[in-house]
Amino acid sequence: MRLFPRHHALRILRRYPITDESWFGVTRRIDLVQALAPVERARLRELATLFLHAKSFTGVQGLTITDEIRISVAAQACLEILNMEADTFIGWVEIVIYPSAFRVAREIRDEGGIVHEEANALSGESWSRGPVILSWEDVRRDSFSPCPGRNVVIHEFAHKLDMLSGRANGMPPLHPDMPIMDWTTALSEAFEHLRCSVEHHYRPHINAYAATNPAEFFAVICEYFFTAPEILNMYCPEVYCQLKAYFRQDTLRYV
Ligand SMILES: [Zn+2]
Repeated sequence: MRLFPRHHALRILRRYPITDESWFGVTRRIDLVQALAPVERARLRELATLFLHAKSFTGVQGLTITDEIRISVAAQACLEILNMEADTFIGWVEIVIYPSAFRVAREIRDEGGIVHEEANALSGESWSRGPVILSWEDVRRDSFSPCPGRNVVIHEFAHKLDMLSGRANGMPPLHPDMPIMDWTTALSEAFEHLRCSVEHHYRPHINAYAATNPAEFFAVICEYFFTAPEILNMYCPEVYCQLKAYFRQDTLRYV
């Protein structure tokens, strides 16, 4: 735990614990947490405690931040770093929560150079070295009524992992024992295959949104890795293998 030297981490865990009532009250309803072994759940609770100490939550449009919101986000974000360093989500502080999908207006320049304003409704967004923004309605649905291949917290925090290399491009910093070529080959072949399917209007095996660009591909395959590893492993086994090495977790064993 680099950001938190062990003695500092222990002090935070002692001084700012998540109460049993709050932790179990929320996590017993999250299947992704319940699937873990008891020792992993204990580790997750420690990581979530350190995470909540380091991050600040802001509710907007009248939303009050509750323990349910804080713990749902922290538990699922920290699930991704269960076997990584506790300070992996470093370099930024704020998590902004909207009550439901939020509209973001962006200026898009078309081929003729004309700038148009486009407004999209988003369930989440991650800024490089900036906040993570989430819709509570979507977080709540994905946490407590999960659907295979969909989890907005996993998605947005996967972007944060990706951006640790400087920018979101589907290439997070890999562990020293992971050959970069194996990662690049597995992910780019699967990405091209998906783009081809989408272009030819075949029904893709995973969410077609992953074909948007390599960064979205990475975020979406992370959603599958945690919520539907059997689908990812069936259609993209090499990608499953790479994510298994990256997260140092074998999510298939929970299936
Ligand atoms: Zn995304």
